[in-house]
Amino acid sequence: MSAHPDYEVVIGLEVHVQLRTRSKLFSTAGVSYGDEPNQHTTPVCLALPGALPVLNAHAVELAIRAGAATNCTIHPTSIFARKNYFYPDLPKGYQISQFEHPLCTDGWLEIETDGLKSDGSKTGGTKRIQLTRIHMEEDAGKSLHDGRADQSRIDLNRAGVPLVEIVSEPDLRSAEEAGFYLRKLHAILRTVGVSDADMEKGQFRCDANVSLRKHGATELGTRREIKNVNSFRFVEAAIEAEIVYQADLLDSGGEVRQATVGYDAENDRLFLMRLKENADDYRYFPDPDLIPLVISQERIDAIRAALPELPDVRRHRFEEAHGLAAADAAKLVGAGSLADFFEAAVAAGAEPKAAAKWLTRDVVAWLNEQERESGDSALETQGFALAPAGFASLLGLVDAGRLTAKSARDLLPDLLAQGGDPESLMQERGLEAVSDSGALEAMADDVLAAQPKAIESFREGDQKAVNFLMGQVMKQSQGKADPAQVRKILIAKLEAL
Ligand code: ADP
Ligand code: MG
Repeated sequence: MSAHPDYEVVIGLEVHVQLRTRSKLFSTAGVSYGDEPNQHTTPVCLALPGALPVLNAHAVELAIRAGAATNCTIHPTSIFARKNYFYPDLPKGYQISQFEHPLCTDGWLEIETDGLKSDGSKTGGTKRIQLTRIHMEEDAGKSLHDGRADQSRIDLNRAGVPLVEIVSEPDLRSAEEAGFYLRKLHAILRTVGVSDADMEKGQFRCDANVSLRKHGATELGTRREIKNVNSFRFVEAAIEAEIVYQADLLDSGGEVRQATVGYDAENDRLFLMRLKENADDYRYFPDPDLIPLVISQERIDAIRAALPELPDVRRHRFEEAHGLAAADAAKLVGAGSLADFFEAAVAAGAEPKAAAKWLTRDVVAWLNEQERESGDSALETQGFALAPAGFASLLGLVDAGRLTAKSARDLLPDLLAQGGDPESLMQERGLEAVSDSGALEAMADDVLAAQPKAIESFREGDQKAVNFLMGQVMKQSQGKADPAQVRKILIAKLEAL
């Protein structure tokens, strides 16, 4: 579903992104994932009396980089504030965040609106999504409810881990656009090294604010906020479910009540967490333990200048320099490591268009399968053993007609899993294509002699007869003949008969 017939869908996203630092935002405790509870804490994380926060300079650098990569204004002065609320995993009783004076404001990024068709053609255009702000803040700890039935435990390993919160304007108009936006943001942040953004580890998590209004209305409708969804697909599904919920409610004369909801992905259902009739009052005030964060213009300029090539620029370069279809270029760039592999393979002599096709189709399919089997995000970790040069030589064998595409596809999983030299593997498996035209002609003669009926059909103008005969020759060659060559030989013989 892309648009609703009666209502305009309005979506704004808040994304929390874990910065790629070794230590926490205000303490020397390490940042880790999956360790035993409470192994990475200091008096600051534990909120022991008298412990004082010290700002992590690397986190600031990464937050500036996030702003620079998304066209934000980066403010020379920003201020850390206390956001006061009580929660068991927040020992201080407040979270240090930025409120009135965030580090970055007024950014934007561009999404390709439903323009990428499977054949690579583009129907839509690009759409600019405004970013309201990017501010720095610390993460909270975690409550564990997996102990005894009557116990909850607190793990403070995550307490104080550095985050940026990236808030968009309500510019998105469908679940699909929200998905495009998130994927683009994800690719940008990974490219510039701000975050690993591993969604399974909660390093990139999204709150989606959704409202509906009548087409043409100027006022925004009342929104509900879907909390903490951590996969692209689930964000899209949760928004779709929310649109259906709100449209049904409005259709039946009801009113949307502002609320925070959760999404149960397993059952594709939303559940109410709390109603939000009034704005939350967190009694924000500047944290007296921290002086304003002041950054010189030189430092901001230097960080901007040192940014690596951004995904949009890279995508355009792939389209222009290598003649790739927009869809292929976008797919490669979306998974940054795949784009690196592509470039290395091209440098090793692979024909770019073929390399892009094989990567986005066959290699991605293989990676997805690994991911399903292992539950690990192989796409993220680039988990294959084949070297770019090996991949290039596999494509070279296909191009030279020494290996059929089908045989190459058969070899690919083993090459990806174990690496190795495609040529020796091909020989070991006896898959070298029969390109010796003498041998192919002999096979074609055999087949024609055995299939008078097919010849008859061909004479009567039945083109399918050629396919049938081709199938027979391919069978004789045990799949090792180049189909195009077989077809040429057969047609020549049929026409000469
Ligand atoms: P809060 O922090 O209370 O959730 P904000 O005003 O910071 O509220 O808004 C958070 C997000 O909600 C932003 O991404 C914004 O674009 C989006 N948003 C605000 N109003 C609406 C609305 N009526 N419909 C959809 N999204 C909205
Ligand atoms: Mg919010």
